[in-house]
Amino acid sequence: MVELAKRAAIPASKTIMMSQRADELKRKGIDVLSLTVGEPDFNTPDAIKDAAKRALDENFTRYTASAGIIELREAIAEKSRRENRVPTDAAHTLVTPTKHALFASIMATVDAGDEVLMTDPCFVSYPSQVMLAGGKPVWVPLHKEHAYGIRADDVQERLTKKTKMLMLCSPNNPTGMTDDADELRAIVDLANDHDFLLCSDEIYEKILYEGTHVSPASLPGGAERTITINGLSKSYAMTGWRTGWLHAPSPVFEAIAKIQTQTITQVTSFVQKASIAALQSPPDSVKKMVTEFRARRDLIVDETRKTPGWEILAPKGAFYAWPRYGHKMTSDAMAEHLLEKARVATVSGSAFGPAGEGHLRLSYATSRDNIREAFRRIRDALPALESKAVAAKKR
Ligand code: PLP
Repeated sequence: MVELAKRAAIPASKTIMMSQRADELKRKGIDVLSLTVGEPDFNTPDAIKDAAKRALDENFTRYTASAGIIELREAIAEKSRRENRVPTDAAHTLVTPTKHALFASIMATVDAGDEVLMTDPCFVSYPSQVMLAGGKPVWVPLHKEHAYGIRADDVQERLTKKTKMLMLCSPNNPTGMTDDADELRAIVDLANDHDFLLCSDEIYEKILYEGTHVSPASLPGGAERTITINGLSKSYAMTGWRTGWLHAPSPVFEAIAKIQTQTITQVTSFVQKASIAALQSPPDSVKKMVTEFRARRDLIVDETRKTPGWEILAPKGAFYAWPRYGHKMTSDAMAEHLLEKARVATVSGSAFGPAGEGHLRLSYATSRDNIREAFRRIRDALPALESKAVAAKKR
């Protein structure tokens, strides 16, 4: 057997693996409730699907410009200027699936040995993508006392001559919490003073229950330092369509766009037409979805607080809850116990960074009935852990 590249030693995405395990058990006829998936359980709105069907009927099925069709790049740039106050234009807009936007941004900027700061916990793909580029992930702690928002002081303490970039994500996966505008302002200043980039992942921007979303690129001195990444997957229930975008200042933008020409070439042609329809659609479908997510957020917070030994801060955005459980066991072991004994699939907190130990990430992109039933099962399965611990002590 040939030897694999050392870089292939990155872990597979634990969130994807746990959700696939739940699906496998379901296929075998086992009644598993999944709180793993990072995607809305709503259908893509009809107007978006109709635009894709129309594009197919019109044979819009060939290669497009690698950076995306100009009408879409213009529509995205207009949205970012209007809604996010990001001073950008079509020439600095790349149409690209969000996860690839992250990957191409890292590949274009991070050299072997460069340090990339990211919050602990953070989205599972940030450290792996940085390692693929030969870079070194450096953890910036998030504190419960600061509602898991990033703090400029914690960033400053970890800056070195090798710091190349800071990954930001608000609303955050996995905590569901948001970053404070003053802290972001101070972080933009640090980026300018210490010459590093910000990569702002804003994919949960529209799934927000409290406060207003702040794009770092909209802050004074921010645009020249920030790669802004966003996409349609979560806001428009379009995870399978693989469409999103980024904005970046020159010459970073051109380097990222060049990588796209040598990798995925472009986002699927007719999906680009559907993406225009998404951006032009009235906000009703997003509003409806967020109203339902808010009710589920309230329910999952309630259910968590009714669970002995568990605690939680009410999430302000996204569709994830980040409870801390009281039992002295690893989050992998807890997730395994809940899958085996409660038939509830969750993602262990450690998948998101060392500080995730003692936590689980629960996606509430599932019905209220499922959330209620999942917690009934979780509460039933927890006493078994107590008796196991007592038995272990007696031995
Ligand atoms: N960024 C964050 C924080 C995410 O949670 C996800 C998906 O779960 C992505 C990026 C990737 O989005 P997409 O599936 O649209 O590429």
